Amino acid sequence: FSCDVIRNFSIIAHIDHGKSTLADRSLTGTIPRKHIGTNQQVLDKLKVERERGITVKAQTASMIHDANGNKYLLNLIDTPGHVDFSWEVSRSLAACQGALLLVDATQGVQAQSISVFHIAKERGLMIIPVLNKIDMPAADPLRIIAQLQSTFGIDADDVLQISAKTGFGAEKVLQSIIERIPPPSGSVHEPLKAFLFDSHYDQYRGVISLVNVRHGVIRKGDKIASCHTRKKYEVTEVGVLHPEEVPTTCLQPGQVGYIACNMKESSEAHIGDTLHQPNVHVDPMPGFQPAKAMVYAGIFPVDTNDFIKLEESIRRLTLTDRSVTMQRESSTALGQGCRLGFLGTLHMDVFRQRLEDEYDANIIVTAPTVPYRVIYKDKTVVVSNPTDFPDEWGPASRVRAVEEPIVNASIIVPEEYLGNMMDLCFSRRAQDVDHRYLDSGGSTSARVMLTCTLPLSEIVTDFFDQLKSRSSGYASFDYEDAGYKASNLVKMTFLLNGKAVDALALIVHRSVEQEVGRMWVKKLHKVIPRQLFEVPIQAAVGKRIVARETLSAMRADVTAGLYGGHYERKLKHLENQKESKRRMKRIGNVDLPQDAFFDILSTK
Ligand code: GDP
Ligand code: MG
Repeated sequence: FSCDVIRNFSIIAHIDHGKSTLADRSLTGTIPRKHIGTNQQVLDKLKVERERGITVKAQTASMIHDANGNKYLLNLIDTPGHVDFSWEVSRSLAACQGALLLVDATQGVQAQSISVFHIAKERGLMIIPVLNKIDMPAADPLRIIAQLQSTFGIDADDVLQISAKTGFGAEKVLQSIIERIPPPSGSVHEPLKAFLFDSHYDQYRGVISLVNVRHGVIRKGDKIASCHTRKKYEVTEVGVLHPEEVPTTCLQPGQVGYIACNMKESSEAHIGDTLHQPNVHVDPMPGFQPAKAMVYAGIFPVDTNDFIKLEESIRRLTLTDRSVTMQRESSTALGQGCRLGFLGTLHMDVFRQRLEDEYDANIIVTAPTVPYRVIYKDKTVVVSNPTDFPDEWGPASRVRAVEEPIVNASIIVPEEYLGNMMDLCFSRRAQDVDHRYLDSGGSTSARVMLTCTLPLSEIVTDFFDQLKSRSSGYASFDYEDAGYKASNLVKMTFLLNGKAVDALALIVHRSVEQEVGRMWVKKLHKVIPRQLFEVPIQAAVGKRIVARETLSAMRADVTAGLYGGHYERKLKHLENQKESKRRMKRIGNVDLPQDAFFDILSTK
């Protein structure tokens, strides 16, 4: 293949606008027979992706298309479609020259349509606007085209109208890819330069890297080197994705494919790295900012004996998702665990579900925390665990101030929900609230885009749920990092009979300390089993108690009867006791089954 007949593109879209369907449709010719007739979409492999209808891990596929008497090689680089994953989106876009901006003709422009459009635009990609689902009776193409014009300045004549489901217009899409997206520029005569944009681990062949060859050729048996690590490797296999791996003899300039090269550790495949021939100097291509964890949570086994197994499962799972950071953590209340950092809350939920599904792990996840900045006179420390947050701060103390991450948020809703959305945002400490109309309405009411800044901590708990329920499911939401801001935050601890339970500590805004404190002590009161004595449950900020409930003592006669009972029954009771002892946690003199934490932390 020469470069002129290669097109590297991706499909960018808001969730559910039909990306997977279109990818499968345009790939029908290359999908192996065994997949045809199954309902599974080939590009969305993981169970959680199917359940939630999102693409988590970018998948890539190549196809050959005949047009104008030529054979074209079209490389689709699939991008994940969610707010938390814009990092993955941007790294996969780095290997493309163009993108199909897919917009549902019944839904119109949504929050992620806008964010992915801007990422693609910044990368200088040729954007082809495509209206999907025009087979649906509710499709309103003229109105959505008007939205595309007003939001992105797109020319109405450039918009394609298709149905990924029926296949209507698919040919036009392929034709436009060939006509409008420029071919990659590269030369076989220049020394090898290949861009590493993704990797995964294969049990038998080790690390498999996805690469985009910019110049030169990669063949099986070649020696290659990494600009990043300076390590050298021998290529043991090269191939293309159809969408499953198909070995080939080489990868040429402009091509996208995979290589295996005796890399043992996933960490050796550095995303954004440039691969080259050993002893030939090349300038590395601009890489990526490393993913920034924005949400942290502790993960502990329900049965403390399972820690080693859990840690191993987490370690393996992080090999397939390198944007998760991991550290050991130990808690007096929960024992040994891991503190993990995620790109966002959805990312956290997906990881947790994968851990439960694929590794059968029984886990307790602590309340999510964002990374706070603690400002000392002479240094700034980032704190991602409430336990490490200072008890006191202020001009007179060692810690001068604390700062929290904030985001620029945008919400798109039908106008009748604008008031609800404003209320929700104000209740979450929103600032700079503004809105504008995307269109003037049609068969359904006009769409409005609301923008504001919000503390990240306010959206890591139940914000999405609230957003959906207060807009009857119509609101779409996206956010981007907007730095840090000084804030009046305090650390809240919970005490059982006067003893702090470390795993339950929280950082809250001072204005809501009472409210939050009361909510949590109520919750604790509900799930903590009664003891032989009365137990005060308290929420404290520093030395101040802000909320309290009292757990009354267990009535003594509950167990009394057992002791006079039948021998066997007594034995069974002792057995049960031994079993539950194992899982009991002692906080001061209060016994808590580990499961109670599960109940506390998993109920909203
Ligand atoms: P993704 O989240 O962007 O990957 O969206 P999917 O491809 O998973 O599609 C979301 C839903 O829309 C699925 O139920 C599809 O069957 C449906 N869908 C996708 N394209 C079309 C279309 O052209 N017409 C109709 N009627 N439904 C479609
Ligand atoms: Mg999908």
